Amino acid sequence: MDWDDFAKWSKDIADWGAQYHKTLRDRPVRAQSKPGAIAAQLPAHPPAEPEDMAAILKDFEEIVMPGMTHWQHPRFFAYFPANATPPSMLAEQLVNTVAAQCMLWQTSPAATEVEGVMVDWLRQAMGLPEPYTGVIQDSASSATLSAVLTMRERATGYSGNREGLAGKGPLRIYCSDQVHSSIDRACWVAGIGQDNLVKLPGTGPRYGLDAGALDRAIRADIAAGYTPAGVIAITGGTGVGASDDLGPILEVARAHDLYTHLDAAWAGSAMICPEIRAEYWQGVAGYDSIVFNPHKWLGAQFDCSVQFLRDATAQLNTLKIEPEYLKTTGAAVTNYSEWTIPLGRRFRALKLWFLIRAYGLEGLQARIRNHVTWAQALCEAIRGLDGFEIVTEPILSLFSFRCPGDDYTQQRLVDAINDDGRIYLTQGAFEGRKIIRVQVGQFETTRDDVMMVRAVVQDIWEQIK
Ligand SMILES: *Cc1c(COP(=O)(O)O)cnc(C)c1O
Repeated sequence: MDWDDFAKWSKDIADWGAQYHKTLRDRPVRAQSKPGAIAAQLPAHPPAEPEDMAAILKDFEEIVMPGMTHWQHPRFFAYFPANATPPSMLAEQLVNTVAAQCMLWQTSPAATEVEGVMVDWLRQAMGLPEPYTGVIQDSASSATLSAVLTMRERATGYSGNREGLAGKGPLRIYCSDQVHSSIDRACWVAGIGQDNLVKLPGTGPRYGLDAGALDRAIRADIAAGYTPAGVIAITGGTGVGASDDLGPILEVARAHDLYTHLDAAWAGSAMICPEIRAEYWQGVAGYDSIVFNPHKWLGAQFDCSVQFLRDATAQLNTLKIEPEYLKTTGAAVTNYSEWTIPLGRRFRALKLWFLIRAYGLEGLQARIRNHVTWAQALCEAIRGLDGFEIVTEPILSLFSFRCPGDDYTQQRLVDAINDDGRIYLTQGAFEGRKIIRVQVGQFETTRDDVMMVRAVVQDIWEQIK
């Protein structure tokens, strides 16, 4: 394919994209295909001869598209959102086209410098004080792993990377039982071990970690010969939005000289609204590491996870490695690959730059406020359905409910709703029972889209009960 062909196909694909988005409401939200159905339509062996782009795109439309779940659909209320706004998509087209590796300042100075400024714009937008700097990672899972490795190295006097962990008494990390599985996995991979991730029950109206219980657990561990290494707090847990009372937890962690990480992967985007910060983020300003995903609620498409660091030194001491071929000469510069586990890195800051400029902070805040308000209105509407129960009240734009009947009936209702296709919901578990989750966060959703959930739930319930 030459570059003139590239330009033609690229324009065709842009037209296709606009049409796709304009007609998205008419498609079922969750893919309706059966397992194996897509693979069965692909040849078992790679082609030996080149194929025509027209044929490839035709197959894309006919084979691939029916097997896609539409995350940009305005009635996507499952999991968490994965918003890809038009300006962010345009930025990604440019990034794809230039296709630079942005691991060092000199391998693309603009990528490094725009990243530094975007992290700082977001720092200000989220009300974090000046010492915070940060880095853009691919995912919250990677940022959390970086933080857990930093906890490990800090607690072992930065000897783990060099000597391994043998002979270093079990390290302990503390969190509530509402944390995301990425925290468990970070502890596996970092050599801490699942058994040394101490999960305390989430309590109170937001299912948060209890600071007194945390302090007692740390003291008991020290007495038993363990080495506490860090505390992981959450704002907006995946299941039901559990949010820790940040100030008191930080105080306990600091009293024991522990490194602190805050997982706000989903809910962090809402902290661009000052009134939401006042409600959820009191005491945030001392956490050593804070992660949030603009690729969820803010409108920057995957991948884009911002990790703020109060002082980057500990993470750099943990992850920085400088073989001869990566050394650069001249003035001191930031080389972001030293802050993270992968070496190669995409120019992720460009889509933040496009996004924030195209909507302005006020445009982004307005959407988040609407989502929160509409989720509350929908929650009240579902509470009014005969025999239905709200299990967890809205935390930001996330709540959960149950229909009459046992766990099996909840799953039957969820499956029937998703087979119907007008909306998409997913199930979760809370206090040993199956729940049906609703989150509102799709960028283009309207109040009518949100309120339609009640009608669809009632309609499908009448059919299956
Ligand atoms: C989505 C989510 C994660 C994982 O995010 P990735 O970027 O997919 O790794 C972690 N924690 C919470 C609370 C989340 O909502």
